[in-house]
Amino acid sequence: MTPPLTIRPLTLGEVRIRPNNIAGTGTPMLWWTFTSRTWSPWLPVFGFLVEHERGTVLFDTGQSAASIDDPDYYPGGLVGLVFRRQAEFRVSVEQSLSAQLTAAGASVDDIDVVAISHLHQDHAGNVAELTGKKFLVSADELALLDEKAPEMHGVLAEHVKVDGVEFSPVVFEPNDDPALAAFGASFDIFDDGTLLLLPTPGHSAGSMSLLVRREGAAPVLLVGDVTYNPDLLAKGVVPDTGAREVQLQTARKIVALTEALPGLAVVAAHDPRVPERLAAVS
Ligand SMILES: [Zn+2]
Repeated sequence: MTPPLTIRPLTLGEVRIRPNNIAGTGTPMLWWTFTSRTWSPWLPVFGFLVEHERGTVLFDTGQSAASIDDPDYYPGGLVGLVFRRQAEFRVSVEQSLSAQLTAAGASVDDIDVVAISHLHQDHAGNVAELTGKKFLVSADELALLDEKAPEMHGVLAEHVKVDGVEFSPVVFEPNDDPALAAFGASFDIFDDGTLLLLPTPGHSAGSMSLLVRREGAAPVLLVGDVTYNPDLLAKGVVPDTGAREVQLQTARKIVALTEALPGLAVVAAHDPRVPERLAAVS
């Protein structure tokens, strides 16, 4: 008997962000970054352990505990100020990657593939603990590492480009499945149609999502930071970060996917309701 395809959320830190980062109004990012006086409640930073008969996939690696203790973790100057104004993080001992894996009855050794939605620090923060794994990151997102100042795109290259971590660029291939018509392309992790990476750019240049299709349970779309609240995404509300038009286009594609795949659960990386959304479709 084949084991069921399971998705388990790992809480890899917590973050609080500005209201515009959740429900955008079209306000320019630098304006709200420096004028906002309020924070959201503390929100989880989720990674997901996806267990498939051919291997275990970790989707997003979470926030690094070093980011809390190391005074030099963030850039200095104006860019560093933007980072500090936009988000605050905390990572308890229980929220380290190894502790969360242990709590899930797993270990780093069990992970075969690490797929990263995008290279922001709270998604790529723990790559150094996963050396030697197969890393999947979209080619467009990896191109940010070659830019002169990746930190201007929210990417802390020195914590991502580390010894022992080799990224395989994901190049999406044409997919004529009518259910995926809005996307038209995908990357099939195990070549069996159950774990499909989809291009969902906008929040960052190369953001991607993971569509999980399995027998006997509703499909799930892990969307990273495409939205912080799937109920807002369904209404076409996107954050005031990233490229607004591209984000809106991606939102429309996800709505179309929701219509094509009845019961689809859209699961965001910082949505406190993730455990209940996953429980409802398992
Ligand atoms: Zn992000």
